[in-house]
Amino acid sequence: MPVDAAEALLCWYVVDKRRLPWRAEPGERADPYRVWLSEVMLQQTTVAAVKPYFEKFTSRWPTVEALAAAEDADVMAAWAGLGYYARARNLLACARAVAGEHAGHFPDDEAALLKLPGIGAYTAAAIAAIAFGRRAVVVDGNVERVVSRLHALKAPLPQARPRIRALVDAMTPAGGAGDFAQATMDLGATICTPRGPACGLCPVQGWCQAYAEGEPELYPVKAPKAPRPHRHGKAYWLEHDGEVLLVRRPAKGLLGGMLALPETPPAEADWEEAGAVEHVFTHFSLTMTLMCARTDARPAGLWHAAATIAEAGLPTLFAKLAARGLAWREKGKAGGGVREKALLV
Ligand code: SF4
Repeated sequence: MPVDAAEALLCWYVVDKRRLPWRAEPGERADPYRVWLSEVMLQQTTVAAVKPYFEKFTSRWPTVEALAAAEDADVMAAWAGLGYYARARNLLACARAVAGEHAGHFPDDEAALLKLPGIGAYTAAAIAAIAFGRRAVVVDGNVERVVSRLHALKAPLPQARPRIRALVDAMTPAGGAGDFAQATMDLGATICTPRGPACGLCPVQGWCQAYAEGEPELYPVKAPKAPRPHRHGKAYWLEHDGEVLLVRRPAKGLLGGMLALPETPPAEADWEEAGAVEHVFTHFSLTMTLMCARTDARPAGLWHAAATIAEAGLPTLFAKLAARGLAWREKGKAGGGVREKALLV
């Protein structure tokens, strides 16, 4: 019989843990490269969305040295669609730091890991615990929810974070901190879910104050959010001889370093509105209107075949706009060409 919630969680984890492609098999040591890559990909992203990207990255770049030697544009294109593109730039910077400054070996303690690009407190703790068996306190959104419920914490997030961290610290065992962290995350992902937690199946029900109170969904308490601002913008689909003009966005800022459609008119042309797409970023939502035109001139820039634009590695917002550009193109073809038609009228 487990003596406390941590022990109960670990017993449950041995039997019911999620089988994930970046996890070590029982008895094997987790590969720090795979742990790091998965943790970076999982930041603000679901396991289901990450799995195919993780498989793609690890088959193409099986070691941190291989990733460090990759071309920036190839990595950015492989990341396209996963979002939060600063992660991809930091991923490369980190791989190059590990390959160049640490002889291809990730450092094994939190303080040294924290000095690497793109590795914050959570990721450093997760790698130290999961890949190196260090006693580190690992707190992600799932852990926050489980601990808030176990203790029925009345203080709202984010103010409750220091208290949650202290409670996780008190629960974390001296040995097996990695398994404990993954067990808590798994419980949050599969049983102690945000809506409709399956308390009847929960291994820590006997220690859970929120369950005892009868309304676990009330936790974690959240401070009211400020409404997300809405913005409007335009993107330009300029076509010449079956190709479309793209731009590489500046390295810093939103979608930094990614391929995109221009957001200012790249040439004088008969611009035609071809609908709009909606997209939600973390800090704002956006309505982006697509303007389309064909040109006889060919301004200098990055031109990509329109027919294969879906393979260009555009981030999701611009992939949605490109789909609209293709629809505009098909409509033009069906009607004998928008410009030609306009000339006949
Ligand atoms: Fe979550 Fe319910 Fe388990 Fe409490 S008993 S930790 S609310 S699943």
